Amino acid sequence: MDPHTQQLLAARLQYYRDLGIYDFYRRELLSPPGQAPPGASECSPARSAGYQAQINEPVPSGAAEVKESVISAGVPTPEDLFAAPKPEAAVTDPAEALRLIQEDLGECTRCVLSRLGRKTIVFGEGNPNAELMFVGEGPGADEDEQGRPFVGRAGQLLNKMIEAMGLQRERVYIANVVKCRPPGNRTPESEEIETCSPFLLRQIAVIQPKAIVALGAVAARCLLGLNESMAKLRGRWFDFRGTRLAVTYHPAFLLRDPRQKKEAWKDLQMVMEYLGLKPRRRAE
Ligand code: URA
Repeated sequence: MDPHTQQLLAARLQYYRDLGIYDFYRRELLSPPGQAPPGASECSPARSAGYQAQINEPVPSGAAEVKESVISAGVPTPEDLFAAPKPEAAVTDPAEALRLIQEDLGECTRCVLSRLGRKTIVFGEGNPNAELMFVGEGPGADEDEQGRPFVGRAGQLLNKMIEAMGLQRERVYIANVVKCRPPGNRTPESEEIETCSPFLLRQIAVIQPKAIVALGAVAARCLLGLNESMAKLRGRWFDFRGTRLAVTYHPAFLLRDPRQKKEAWKDLQMVMEYLGLKPRRRAE
C-alpha cells in the first residue's frame, strides 16, 4: 500500500475509533451490492460484520429436542484487517475492562437518542464473570431515571425469570442493544443500533458468558443478523461468535400476554440444561 493511502486509512481509522468502532472485517458479498440477502436484518451488527445465521431446520417443539439444534450464526469473518487496539484490549480483569468500555462510551452523543430526551445512559450491570448474559432492547422510563437496566415492571418479571432458573440477578449480566431510552419507548432505529451495538459486542467479548439470552426479536435480530419471526428464532440454539445464544420472549411482551410464559419457560429450561442449573425450589 502506498504511503498516501496508508495515511488516509490511518486518519479514517482514528475517526472510527473516536466513534467507538474498533473492529473491521473483510466482508464477503452476500448478495449484489445494495441488496440485502433474504432474511437479513437491516439493523444488525452481525450484518455489518459480514455474517448472518442460517435457519433451515424445523422449529423443535420442546426443550429436550432443542439442544440438538445448534445453528451457527456468529462466526465473524476472521480477517480482522485493520483492528485498532481497544482500550480494554490488554486488560485481563473483566471488571476493569468493562469500566474502560464505559469510560470510552462516556457521555455519548454518537446518535440522536442523546438528543431525544435521554436522561441517563444505561450501560448494563451485573457480574463481569457471568456465565449467563441477558440482552434486551433498550432502556425504558424507569431505567432512564435510574441508569440501570431492567428495573421497571419488565425488570421485575426478568428478576423472577432469573430466580426461577435457580440464579440471582447479581450472578448474571444484563445489557441492552441500545444504551439510551428511545423516545416514547419506540423500537430503536437501525442507525441507533448500528452506532450503539459495538459497545454491547465489546461487553460480550469481555464477559465471555457461556450463554446469551436475547430478550425479544429486536435483540435477537440484531445480534444474529436475521429478520426472522420469534416463532423461527425461539426454541433452538444459535452460535454467536463461539457463544451459545438462545432467544426468548421479552418480559414486556410476557406482561401483555402471560399465556406465553410457559413457552418462555421452555426456552429458559433449555438454557438451564446447558448451564447445569436446577430450577429454584419453591418455598413450602
Ligand atoms: N426493556 C428493555 O429492553 N430493556 C430494559 O432495560 C428495560 C426494559
